[in-house]
Amino acid sequence: MQALGAIDLPRTVVVAAVREEIAVLRRSLAGSDAGPDDVAGTVAAERLAETLARVRDRLERLRRSRLQPVINGTGVLIHTNLGRAPLGPAVIEALTEAAGSYSNLEFDLVSGGRGGRAAWLEQNLALLFGAEAATIANNCAAALVLLLRHCTGGARKEVLISRGELIQIGGGFRIPDILETSGARLREVGTTNRTELADYERACSPQTGLILKVHRSNFFMGGFVASPDTAELAALARRRRVPLIEDLGSGAIRRTETMGLGEHEPTPAEVLRAGVELVCFSGDKLFGGPQAGIIAGRARRVRALKRDPLFRALRCDKLVLAAMQATVDLHLASEPADALPLHGMLQVSCAELQERAARLVAALSGLPLEVRIGRGKSRLGGGTMPRTSIDSVTLDLQPASGALDELAARLRAASPPVIGHLSAGALKLDLRTVFPHQDAALADAIRQALES
Ligand SMILES: *Cc1c(COP(=O)(O)O)cnc(C)c1O
Repeated sequence: MQALGAIDLPRTVVVAAVREEIAVLRRSLAGSDAGPDDVAGTVAAERLAETLARVRDRLERLRRSRLQPVINGTGVLIHTNLGRAPLGPAVIEALTEAAGSYSNLEFDLVSGGRGGRAAWLEQNLALLFGAEAATIANNCAAALVLLLRHCTGGARKEVLISRGELIQIGGGFRIPDILETSGARLREVGTTNRTELADYERACSPQTGLILKVHRSNFFMGGFVASPDTAELAALARRRRVPLIEDLGSGAIRRTETMGLGEHEPTPAEVLRAGVELVCFSGDKLFGGPQAGIIAGRARRVRALKRDPLFRALRCDKLVLAAMQATVDLHLASEPADALPLHGMLQVSCAELQERAARLVAALSGLPLEVRIGRGKSRLGGGTMPRTSIDSVTLDLQPASGALDELAARLRAASPPVIGHLSAGALKLDLRTVFPHQDAALADAIRQALES
């Protein structure tokens, strides 16, 4: 243990790592020709040094696998691998308060008896979307499973879905698999590129449990394509007395055109107005809150969903509820403006980014590194508006010696770790996704990377 030197990990973790590597050493000694004399001699000494190196390596990997803040220089705003939407100060404060105290989580302060969990939040989510009712589950995938089970729990097992919407969302989340998990039966409609209303009409039968529309969030189709719009589909669903449910994915609340984004992303309020019975989407994509699956729509259906035993298993904890409640407050406020970091980042001008870049270039002078200010294209990510990019400013790093991927690896090893992307012979750090308050830490991390 002493031979390892100072290590900033709990002792138990270090001891476990040492034990495992000693076991590896024992096995390799048992399997080798080394006699007991060798063990005491030079072979053993070498093996011991190797083992120490392996322990250090193992501990370093462990240390770096710990959940920790990183600087996102990728330019992808809703980066699923980097934790999607960051939360703003007001939301963090709410989270902190809820975490360190008791709360009226399921306690009615008026009657003094048991109260409805998340009653206030559900009420205000509904208000935000102009829905009869709303609720939340762990994430959008969980929301979808709940919805599917709810609508196909009886004799009507079939889910009608367009072949053009049988998507994979990333992380192995495939719509057909989710359907199967929920006990529903997939009934594909139309073709990959064209699905007409008549296709749905023909597929509707007494076995139909619901019509599912999945927003094609992470890809787009062009050319000879067609699909009925939500209102047409809703009219058909009403005629056939089956619910129409839409998985929107992203949860844009404001009109995305007014946020400097070219494309229009349908909002939950819009699809509900178009006649969808229930809509679901993620809490931590464009909505800008914590991980959650928000469900909104008909009160009768929301009530029924909440009675499903699975709802209990997929419910959010008080920390998520507190953070979501504060996020909804911000959306409901007349001036949500920059209170949500995501929206703030979208609004920062290139001139402002340029100024920050210039200051960083100055701060990094004298290092064995060429630093240029480059142009970048930030993207929303999180399977949201794949066609949209936002002009941005990058710091383009080229080390005086050594390979670029080596520099990238060193930046990932810095504290805090910095994640960029390699492009056109440089390691690019997009400043739109770097918070201004992180600039000093970024310069510091780059210095560490070059000195290590
Ligand atoms: C992202 C996404 C999901 C999954 O959401 P999670 O909150 O990560 O479970 C489901 N459907 C669509 C259309 C999505 O874009």
